[in-house]
Amino acid sequence: MVMSVASPRRSIREAVVQSVLAYHQQQNQKYRRSISYGGEAGAGVGGVGDDDEPGFWEEEEGTVELAQIGAERTKNVLILMSDTGGGHRASAEAIRDAFRLEFGDEYKVFVKDLCKDHAGWPLNDMERSYKFMVKHVQLWKVAFHSTSPRWVHCFYLAALAAFYAKKVEAGLKKYKPDIIISVHPLMQHIPLWVLKWQGLQNRVVFVTVITDLNTCHPTWFHTGVNRCYCPSEEVSKRALLEGLEPSQVRIFGLPIRPSFCRAVLVKDALRRELQLDPELPAVLLMGGGEGMGPVKKTAKALGESLFDKESGKPIGQLIVICGRNKTLSSTLEASQWKIPVKIRGFETQMEKWMGACDCIITKAGPGTIAEALIRGLPIILNDFIPGQEVGNVPYVVDNGAGVFSKSSKETARLVARWFGPDSEELRKMSENALKLAQPDAVFDIVKDIHELTQQQGPMSHISYTITSSFYQPM
Ligand code: UDP
Repeated sequence: MVMSVASPRRSIREAVVQSVLAYHQQQNQKYRRSISYGGEAGAGVGGVGDDDEPGFWEEEEGTVELAQIGAERTKNVLILMSDTGGGHRASAEAIRDAFRLEFGDEYKVFVKDLCKDHAGWPLNDMERSYKFMVKHVQLWKVAFHSTSPRWVHCFYLAALAAFYAKKVEAGLKKYKPDIIISVHPLMQHIPLWVLKWQGLQNRVVFVTVITDLNTCHPTWFHTGVNRCYCPSEEVSKRALLEGLEPSQVRIFGLPIRPSFCRAVLVKDALRRELQLDPELPAVLLMGGGEGMGPVKKTAKALGESLFDKESGKPIGQLIVICGRNKTLSSTLEASQWKIPVKIRGFETQMEKWMGACDCIITKAGPGTIAEALIRGLPIILNDFIPGQEVGNVPYVVDNGAGVFSKSSKETARLVARWFGPDSEELRKMSENALKLAQPDAVFDIVKDIHELTQQQGPMSHISYTITSSFYQPM
């Protein structure tokens, strides 16, 4: 048996202010170093800072805690996400499912929006504000770029931490995490400050899984994480420039739900199951989790281009997935169509709809792109959210897996050509899509996190200490 004694804590505001200053300084030094030396120094698996403050999980100062050495138990994994768009949740669920498939009961995984559940405004209202801003793209563009400089977002987040860290701490206590995984750019700073404040930065494994393929926001990069999983070389270069050490960075790809990569999906069977026409080529049209972009205009244009006036017959069928956009689905439901059309709301089995189709039209959402690549679907990108999705366009187009077109009519004409005389082009793009796909990324990520927890030392011992000290019944 081991005994540990908790010691007095600083106030959270003091801790946050000191942390942000130290973090800011550390970031600047690392940034300068990476610029001058190329940033090759190895990083230890570390926390927010180097000092090991005591008493993190203790409920009361001076409590004497008992820990059992070597006790094996299920480890708790807390995945922090937010429903800003559909991609963060999809990645979080992908990681959760991969943990279950790879390690069974060894890990218990919680997918949570800690800010929504535990903090106040504006953190608990991110879904609504994000939806509003991306609808008014200029507003989003200003917000994205004006918060990009490190000093701006660090001070902004520090101010929020000063208000809400206590509440976030209460949220962390609820889930007793041994491992925290952030799949959202705003889920690093406050939880890491809480860990530092409580002296747990070296005991809880904290990793970031970036869910943007290219031009991601700098808030994704926090030097205090144990690992930063980047979906592409481009993102890893940004991570190094933002001060992360090469040893902290891994490139496996975007985590996609195992149902996409492990299931054997046969197109004919899927078409029967989904009640689609068995013969006609099918195009899937969508706009992320929120059904954004020019979906309505494109659907109407496809309704015309996929109908052969001479023969009076359709040359293709259309599936529109509107996500959470109920106005869009009801408008499309009320329309008349000359070709077979299926209008769907938010679908939970996207792999089946993608597996049943021959190509996809979508905004440049990273999740949808990565899923379409795994299914070998040629992609027509018809829109992008300024900032984080801009870089996804060259990622697809330059690799020959798709094209970009903002014109609904041009898009519809292209699909008609693909389903007719240009079918060879469609086949080639499908091959390129499969080459670019990274179906094993999610498994590589969870295996690496597992290894990290093993290297971190006897987690079961540490975690048990944490559990018995911090996690008092609430
Ligand atoms: N999605 C889903 N059901 C739907 C619509 C979308 O599961 O009805 C998923 C889609 O498969 C993808 C994610 O939502 O995984 C959308 O992520 P993306 O990064 O493409 O765009 P976002 O919605 O985050 O802007």
